[in-house]
Amino acid sequence: MRKILCTLTSLFICTVLFVNLFAETAEGDKQPVAHVSFWFDTEDYILPAADDAAKRLAEIFTEQGVRATFKIVGEKARVFRDRGRDDVILALSKHDIGYHAEYHSIHPTPAEYEQQLGWDEGVKAFMRREGRGQRDLRKIFGVVPSCYGQAGGSWVPQSYAALRNWGILLYLDETSHVGLGGKPFWYCGVLNAVHLSGRVTRMGLGGEEDFKRGCQRFGEVHKRVLEEGGGLISIYYHPCEWVHRQFWDGVNFARGANPPREEWKLPPQKSPEETERAFKYFAKYLEYVRTRPTVQIVTAREIGALYPDRAYQGPFTRDDLLQMGKHIQKEVTFLRLGDRTVSAAEMLYLLAKAVVLFDGERQMKFRHPIVEGSLREGATLSIGGGFGQEEGLLFFETGDFSEGIELKFLYGPSGTWSETIQEGTFPWKRWVEACRDFLEEAEDLGRIPAAIWVAGKPVAPQDFAASLGGIARKLANTRLFPERSFVFAKEFPIERGNFTAGKYVSEDRPGLWGWVIFPPDFRAPKMMELGKLQAWTIKPAILLEP
Ligand SMILES: [Zn+2]
Repeated sequence: MRKILCTLTSLFICTVLFVNLFAETAEGDKQPVAHVSFWFDTEDYILPAADDAAKRLAEIFTEQGVRATFKIVGEKARVFRDRGRDDVILALSKHDIGYHAEYHSIHPTPAEYEQQLGWDEGVKAFMRREGRGQRDLRKIFGVVPSCYGQAGGSWVPQSYAALRNWGILLYLDETSHVGLGGKPFWYCGVLNAVHLSGRVTRMGLGGEEDFKRGCQRFGEVHKRVLEEGGGLISIYYHPCEWVHRQFWDGVNFARGANPPREEWKLPPQKSPEETERAFKYFAKYLEYVRTRPTVQIVTAREIGALYPDRAYQGPFTRDDLLQMGKHIQKEVTFLRLGDRTVSAAEMLYLLAKAVVLFDGERQMKFRHPIVEGSLREGATLSIGGGFGQEEGLLFFETGDFSEGIELKFLYGPSGTWSETIQEGTFPWKRWVEACRDFLEEAEDLGRIPAAIWVAGKPVAPQDFAASLGGIARKLANTRLFPERSFVFAKEFPIERGNFTAGKYVSEDRPGLWGWVIFPPDFRAPKMMELGKLQAWTIKPAILLEP
């Protein structure tokens, strides 16, 4: 029953989405749409008036027939329940529910406890410390949270693996720790609507003047987004902003302060008139935004359908392989191939798999005849031989080299190998063995190992990737005989890889940790290095075309 219900629900969601995704002109031409997501970090579990503010905001959206996303802190959800605020829970449950950490600002916050940890223990620490909150959200709201976003500036790379374990596949927040061109992107196998810079806007909550300025600013962002082909615009707030004069956590947990619960202070509050005025103008702002032509209000849960990952939706061609080879030799970073993108990690996996397949010690299924009249579609051909035996290499003449290759997601390495070999030339068979060994270890660990063993010697993953790029180019460029004749070079060299994907993750710098809650002089160089290694997985997310 549950399965049927889920299927029906997703069918319904898909139908709704596809009907509304793109605006259609009278002539039937599709034009870009700005997908505006309003999200609220619902976190103040100290000031009770913040509960009412969350409810009021939910009602404003409900009255206007659109849905918002409430990213809720675990402790906040429990506070709704323990204060008997079923009315608030009910009002919010008409909207999308995301997750916003277990305690948010009680020390240690995620970046504080992950600061010195490696990958595996860091993922475990995050799951243990933040797991309860997302479980409580499931119990209290009856849904798997649609997204996660970090507390303040407490971003940690290890959170992504925990999110995937929990089935949360969208990271929705604003921070400068990781970003790609101000648009949504994939990182660690999770869709990120993060660091959207020019696509983020908001209105001040002061009254008429703020409202006018807010509408004008939205107009500018909206225009620019349409010029760029549409896509996501982020508008975010905290419900407590409508009722407080100062953030609840700044009052209690600033600069590392960690008072016990009985000493927590209430933040100073706005007057009822100020609060009322802020709600009134916010309702007007929402009305302004949602009634713009070519605006579609979307929840976090709908964002995933706008940015599907097509790399996992079908095989890659020989031309794709050639492009990947050329690209990764120059730069170890993502590549766009038509309407899909592949990360450096995905390319490494595909190239290694192609080398192993190429070696031909398996049965290959062909979709296309190879030699006119000799093989029919779907025929199975046993590819024997191997290096140096031309008949062993037939399958590249067909279109899809990855026939039978299932792209698997891999995380980036969890560390760097201190000494790796950077030159040398090895026979084809040694590379095949290295690829087999790499695939076995990578699939076992679920990530790229820190070193890959070629002829018994450790090679850094970026060098291994560049070397496979060179090999793949030779494979893809060669035709079978007579014009298809294929001759392997006897040996292939190690090439130096230039891992540039890391630049999309910030350096550890003082400004990165400017959140007032962090202890003074907080830094996390080791953790940001881990973050850079995970940039093996970064790639742009491509908006579904009309
Ligand atoms: Zn927050």
